[in-house]
Amino acid sequence: MSEPRRRSWAEPYKIKMVEPLKMTTREERERAIREAGYNTFLLKSEDVYIDLLTDSGTSAMSDRQWAGMMLGDEAYAGSRNFYHLEAAVREIYGYKHLVPTHQGRAAEHILSKILIKPGDVVPGNMYFTTTRLHQELAGGTFVDVIIDEAHDPASEHPFKGDVDLAKLQAVIAEHGAAKIPYVCIATAVNMAGGQPISLANLRAVRALCEAHGIRIIHDATRVAENAYFIKEREPGCAGMSVAAIVRALCDLSDGCTMSAKKDALVNIGGFLALNDDDLFDAARNLVVVYEGLHTYGGMAGRDMEAVAIGLHESVQYDHIRARVGQVKYLGEKLQKYGVPIVVPIGSHGVFLDAKAFLPHLDQDVYPAQALAAELYLDSGLRAMERGNVSSGRDPKTGLNRRPRLELVRLTIPRRVYTQAHMDVVAESVAEVYDRRDAIQGLTMVYEPPQLRFFQARFEPLA
Ligand SMILES: *Cc1c(COP(=O)(O)O)cnc(C)c1O
Repeated sequence: MSEPRRRSWAEPYKIKMVEPLKMTTREERERAIREAGYNTFLLKSEDVYIDLLTDSGTSAMSDRQWAGMMLGDEAYAGSRNFYHLEAAVREIYGYKHLVPTHQGRAAEHILSKILIKPGDVVPGNMYFTTTRLHQELAGGTFVDVIIDEAHDPASEHPFKGDVDLAKLQAVIAEHGAAKIPYVCIATAVNMAGGQPISLANLRAVRALCEAHGIRIIHDATRVAENAYFIKEREPGCAGMSVAAIVRALCDLSDGCTMSAKKDALVNIGGFLALNDDDLFDAARNLVVVYEGLHTYGGMAGRDMEAVAIGLHESVQYDHIRARVGQVKYLGEKLQKYGVPIVVPIGSHGVFLDAKAFLPHLDQDVYPAQALAAELYLDSGLRAMERGNVSSGRDPKTGLNRRPRLELVRLTIPRRVYTQAHMDVVAESVAEVYDRRDAIQGLTMVYEPPQLRFFQARFEPLA
């Protein structure tokens, strides 16, 4: 009996406008990466062929979103687009109050300022760079309560974003609930490789927090991607829509910070959403200091409109299946070439395990940074370090944090590249993998005091 013929997978959209890509020679790339201090953040976009630096603000907007841009109401106060965005946030996420901000870290800034007092402790399911920094700037200390499996790139745990309830309980016992302004829960945990938290785990976290009167603030940046994994993997959830799962996740928290540059398919934007009336009042007072009036908060009216439309598109099944599916396609291709990657394949990118890729390099010569530079040299592919450089220094000891995960992130922008681009990426990584023994480490020659990975400069070890 013959197999039924199955259709190939394809992007669920057609292309209406194109942006030509520039090809470079090896010589040009050698010059470009040297001038960039071996930091892919400092490359000119013009010198990049396939740009997998980040999925942040790099999405292709839909024709509907572009049409929405023409409907921008650029009034200083009370823009119509603000009310559209507020309605979208209420409908899709279910939070009561909206404070728009120019991007996610601005929401984190305001939230940290209103909730964290010096000496406070903020437990979370793994740190995120800007989130932790704002917690620290407000006088708080981040404590990681994610399950151990999240720090193991080879663990196949289906929900590596889950909280270890015993760890959270221990933090509450040690510091007391009064010192914990909130628990920070990220969906599709970025620094773990885009790994989801399960609904069951979040329900248990909620019960524990409620018993101690502790709030949960949700980093909702990639909640739709997390919801897709729940639909695929969590017992009892296959019949739920992605939108219903998103809503169920949000309903287990008291508010969220959001970088609309990810899930919401826009190039700029973000918000803080809160259920509590008093906290909302406090946030609204601060947003006028740091961002702008509370009905635009750093965004143009047209941008708020694009976010409102993008939020609706983000929970459509065909979209999210293709988005996460493209990441899976690249990851599985790399696995066929034997390249060590973080498993299970995550939501928004494929994370190369630089420790396993370059076992001959010590973490203090920055293997992931060196690997990202090498990939650029090979094909003009731009990736990003997520390891010792990103993790920064321990504020107490001043030493590199040397995180367990030393990764290079191949982050896929939404709706931008095709399957053919993914093939080229996989071939380039495989090529570099074949000559990995010759790759040398780097030394840091310029180090900014905060979020050093953005602007640090390096030189090859001779
Ligand atoms: C990008 C991101 C942020 C910060 O958002 P920006 O819009 O870049 O300021 C916060 N949390 C997570 C999980 C992110 O991925």
